[in-house]
Amino acid sequence: MAVKLAVILALFNLLALGIAEDFDFFYFVQQWPGSYCDTSRSCCYPKSGKPAAAFGIHGLWPNYNSGSYPSNCDPDSPFDESKVSDLISRMQSNWPTLACPSGDGLTFWTHEWEKHGTCSESILDQHGYFKSALNLNAKIDLLKVLVDAGIEPNGGEYSLASIKEAIEGATGQTPFIECNNDSSGNGQLYQVYLCVDTSGSEFIQCPVFPRGKCPPTIQFPSF
Ligand code: 5GP
Ligand code: 5GP
Repeated sequence: MAVKLAVILALFNLLALGIAEDFDFFYFVQQWPGSYCDTSRSCCYPKSGKPAAAFGIHGLWPNYNSGSYPSNCDPDSPFDESKVSDLISRMQSNWPTLACPSGDGLTFWTHEWEKHGTCSESILDQHGYFKSALNLNAKIDLLKVLVDAGIEPNGGEYSLASIKEAIEGATGQTPFIECNNDSSGNGQLYQVYLCVDTSGSEFIQCPVFPRGKCPPTIQFPSF
């Protein structure tokens, strides 16, 4: 009886302190700049110049096992550059913005923090959120994984299955691949989703995959 009471009290405390987890896992989403740029809408290089030919971070998105997700969870927690000043140079290299007009990244990072980051604030504060995404990006060099499997960004066509297999071989986890279309309507490798535990540090098997379908064979454009 005393034990039961203690457990109930502990749970109550967790809830009262607001540290109960309010999402089930993260999608860690990386984008291939060659595909972002190779569409009918244009792209713009960041003010700091053309990014390296590498998969860049798009975001770290809290998600529910049901497939739905929370967004814009805390209007009182705006993006504050001063909280991530020690991370800015890594963010410029690994989380570059490609949207037009050309920017310094602050608009993109503000959007990602306010839409997604504020929904995992009970676990990761703003500094922790950006640092976790940077560390995840450093854990897996997606371009190297693909090139090592003979899948090169040269405009060639590759089977979706071979791309998934290469990433699964390197991470142990099945990725979700999102395609977009070039201006002639050909499907191409746009974003790679990997699932991450609620601490934001370990890749896990995805509890649920986003919707969407790539054709069986897709292009990997150069950048
Ligand atoms: P789109 O509609 O272009 O696929 O996605 C637009 C935006 O909605 C994404 O960039 C992301 O912010 C959000 N989004 C789309 N799908 C998901 C999802 O499955 N989980 C989460 N957390 N966000 C998503
Ligand atoms: P999400 O799709 O995450 O909801 O929103 C992405 C937002 O960030 C869009 O408003 C988009 O214009 C902006 N954005 C800025 N830079 C980039 C970029 O490099 N890639 C993508 N996918 N969106 C970007």
